[in-house]
Amino acid sequence: MLGAVINLAYLLGALAFVLGLRRLSSPDTAKRGNRLAAIGMGIAIVATLLTPGGNGTLIWILSAMLIGALIGWRAATKVEMTAMPQLVSIFNGLGGASAVVLGGLELYRIVGGAQSVSTNEILILLLTLFIGGVAFTGSILAYLKLDGKVWDETITLPRHSLINGIFLLGLVAFMAYLCLFPAQLTTGVLVLFTVLTLIYGLSFVAPIGGADMPVVISLLNSFTGLSAAAAGLIYGNQIMLVGGILVGASGTILTVLMCNAMNRSLFNVLIGGFSASGGASKTASGDQNVIEVGLSDLAIQMYYSKKVMVVPGYGLAVAQAQKACKELDELLEANQVEVKYAIHPVAGRMPGHMNVLLAEVDIPYNKLLDLEEANAEFKDTDVVIVVGANDVVNPSAEDDPGSSIYGMPVLQVWNAKQVIVLKRSMRPGYAGIQNPLFFHEKTKMLFGDAKDSLQKLVSEVKNQ
Ligand code: NDP
Repeated sequence: MLGAVINLAYLLGALAFVLGLRRLSSPDTAKRGNRLAAIGMGIAIVATLLTPGGNGTLIWILSAMLIGALIGWRAATKVEMTAMPQLVSIFNGLGGASAVVLGGLELYRIVGGAQSVSTNEILILLLTLFIGGVAFTGSILAYLKLDGKVWDETITLPRHSLINGIFLLGLVAFMAYLCLFPAQLTTGVLVLFTVLTLIYGLSFVAPIGGADMPVVISLLNSFTGLSAAAAGLIYGNQIMLVGGILVGASGTILTVLMCNAMNRSLFNVLIGGFSASGGASKTASGDQNVIEVGLSDLAIQMYYSKKVMVVPGYGLAVAQAQKACKELDELLEANQVEVKYAIHPVAGRMPGHMNVLLAEVDIPYNKLLDLEEANAEFKDTDVVIVVGANDVVNPSAEDDPGSSIYGMPVLQVWNAKQVIVLKRSMRPGYAGIQNPLFFHEKTKMLFGDAKDSLQKLVSEVKNQ
């Protein structure tokens, strides 16, 4: 009877995961989707705790859960939006670490061949340990790189990708050997395999450029899912299997989408084909001059426009300028100016970054245009205001084959009547390359912190 209840609970949990995930695909339903998936996880945990066996361990499990929940809650509520990829990375890493502990403990039980196990079981255990280990140390290094604590040049060896290839082949051979000769699995061998796996995780992420870290985090996320699925197989736990597969599949899809949006292959990302510090063709600005715009002129121009398009980028997130943006939007709309937002799929530092920021201040979702929609509308737009975006509006992606972002789809803001760029300086964006848009005849610059500039603009518009 208890078994049937547990299975039913697992089914409900799995259903909640799938429906929750489905709802995450639109900002309108995302919050509910998140809640539903969390409820599914709650059901799964309770059902697992009800599973017979594990006498006397309940207090340990509940204590660990309490500590974990407190740390997770605090981290999630305190994190800045701009540091979200780092947080995701840490969470990923911890998932990987759990898989290492699970796989390691189960392998330890069969050390010396005391228990008879099938080749399949050993393979699954080794894969759990391997994938979890790579996800663990890889995510930690990804976190350190994203947070600017470690620089690519300091940890990358010459021909690093080749070394990684050989390292991977060596580990695969090691796993094959242990599957074929399980009696050779001693405690020492297990420790050696674990250490090598952890080193490989670091080495795997080392050559990948800082600019590609969000892609790698998404890939490592899918690894964590796969290790959880493998652990589900070990314990015959269906919900772990389903949850792991869902995480693995969604992480993979996200990785592919991000690569497509940057027009890069995953292989190119993994061998470190592009980095913030190198590889980028720096289009020289020469002694070209930029033209600056005055606040009151801009306010008048916007106030009497028919249509204004805002292009948000990473700088909007850094400046936390979304509220000022909304205020400006409301003032303009009150004067019959149509205001829309052009959202590039990789604007910011993680997928959906801009959508989340704009949703935070209740900017209606129907004002948000995706890349193709926005590109079709620029020609009818009077003023485009680029708020802390750079690479995603760089025309070199279309007309400079030597540029490292050549081929990446970009927002063609230069087709509008006037472009205003809000940023603090002439420093390049993430790709580390100069942006000819700033020197374009239709472009004017408004230098300063995006929030500060927008607030001043709001005051000027109020005076109209
Ligand atoms: P960029 O990094 O290209 O540019 C951001 C700009 O914001 C900078 O030029 C900076 O200029 C400006 N800025 C920073 N802080 C402020 C501030 N407080 N006020 C005003 N301006 C500010 O960002 P984009 O959003 O245009 O492009 C995203 C980049 O990230 C792309 O290269 C993309 O490939 C990459 N990426 C994105 C991923 C994603 O999923 N979203 C994943 C992987 C990579 P200044 O310092 O002069 O102010």
